Amino acid sequence: MEVTIATGRQRGVRLIGAAQRSAASAPSAASAPPQLALSLALPDGSSLVPVVRIGEYVRLGQVVAWSPDCEGTPLHASVSGQVSAIELRDAIGMSARMPAIVIDNDGRDERDPGLIPVADYTLRSAEELLARIEAGGIVGLGGAAFPTHLKLAPTPSTPVETLVINGVECEPGIQCDDMLMRYRAESMLFGAQVMLHIVGAGRCVIAIEADKPEAIAATRTAVKAAGDARLSVAIVPTYYPAGGERQLIEFLFGTQVPAGGLPRDVGVVCQNVGTAAAIATLIRTGEPLVSRLVTVTGLGVAFPRTLEVRLGTPLSHLIEECGGYTPDITRLIAGGMMMGVALPHDALAVAKTTHCVIAATAADLVPRGPAMPCIRCGDCAEACPSHLLPQELYRHAVEEDDAGLARFGITDCIECGCCDAVCPSQLPLVSVFGAARRQLQVNTVTTERRDLARQRFNAHTQRLAVEQAERQRRLKERRPAGRKDE
Ligand code: SF4
Ligand code: SF4
Repeated sequence: MEVTIATGRQRGVRLIGAAQRSAASAPSAASAPPQLALSLALPDGSSLVPVVRIGEYVRLGQVVAWSPDCEGTPLHASVSGQVSAIELRDAIGMSARMPAIVIDNDGRDERDPGLIPVADYTLRSAEELLARIEAGGIVGLGGAAFPTHLKLAPTPSTPVETLVINGVECEPGIQCDDMLMRYRAESMLFGAQVMLHIVGAGRCVIAIEADKPEAIAATRTAVKAAGDARLSVAIVPTYYPAGGERQLIEFLFGTQVPAGGLPRDVGVVCQNVGTAAAIATLIRTGEPLVSRLVTVTGLGVAFPRTLEVRLGTPLSHLIEECGGYTPDITRLIAGGMMMGVALPHDALAVAKTTHCVIAATAADLVPRGPAMPCIRCGDCAEACPSHLLPQELYRHAVEEDDAGLARFGITDCIECGCCDAVCPSQLPLVSVFGAARRQLQVNTVTTERRDLARQRFNAHTQRLAVEQAERQRRLKERRPAGRKDE
């Protein structure tokens, strides 16, 4: 794979030779395994709370865990069967073992009777539909898994003018969005119309990369059939990371989302194509988010393809569905080649954030030489889609200078790895930035907690002093007249 810096209006890199290795056939449903493990881990490192007990019988679509502090959305059983364990397990993208609900699949797919479709969504209020989307466990399926109802919730100070349906794959090699647009475009558009109704936007732009002709054709046909003047298709040049929300908005409308701000600040809400299709399924059938499209690719798997996979399916089962490993398998990666994470084993289970699994061989992996000193060439800054100065961030990260990191905008780093990929000195920029961002977060929280503790202590000391003064005043008042202090 060759990397060059993108030019013109695009900021990022072009990845030449990052070929698709998944089959282009319609995504079929992977078989449901005999046992599934639904991870309760949330992207921020916290976890959902189980609402079922070991030994309990659960039905397909039944809530098995929820978030009491609303940091996440409910999790539903993806099969029917018996809960055989609630235990700590390895989870994709988590450094520590996280709680998981293990279900022994009875193969009957007995549906929760509470799953009811919405007859005519146009007659429902935005609040009612948002409550449905929350209860249906819908999150952003582009990888971030941010709760969709929160992203769509109305904020009167920042009205939404445009809904962007993001069909630009996060990274080369991943085919979920491409496959969805090719084969489920009508469903995606229905979900987009539901979201338009909720946010009250006047237009919806479906963004697709220029190198996806089949997806473009299928979506254009579906837009024509829908006969809805609010819907249109926009073609985006193929570069990485065109699919980032901020990058996409900047390309489509020439507007930059302010640093530390949200797309809403410029009147835009962005949702992934998979999220739109999941909303369509929820509204039309009542079925919550219990499965998702996953691309299995890389030279280390016999028949790469994109499959509809039940949440909780072990990756080993997924690999078997694709014909098993080839003899050259070197590493299993969750995510794409740029931002993916290496996995310790294949017993980990598919979660709402799992869009791609790469069974990589040595030929898939880009060899990395030893890190050399920065030569201040500026290539990293030219490639950075967030308009940052990675060489400065690197210097402050190495010096553990939080103030410098904050000044140079570390919080706007999306850890895309573009700087890393173009750096001639082979500096491990993105991993250093990732660690620095997390440390800065910890330090900020610690400082906030320390300040809060200090404020509480001062308030407590002040209250004690006031109480003491009051006690002394009352004592003085009770003393017999004429008696003097000793
Ligand atoms: S690309 Fe690498 S060598 Fe060039 S300025 Fe950036 S960090 Fe330094
Ligand atoms: S600094 Fe962050 S956002 Fe910029 S290229 Fe590097 S990883 Fe991407």
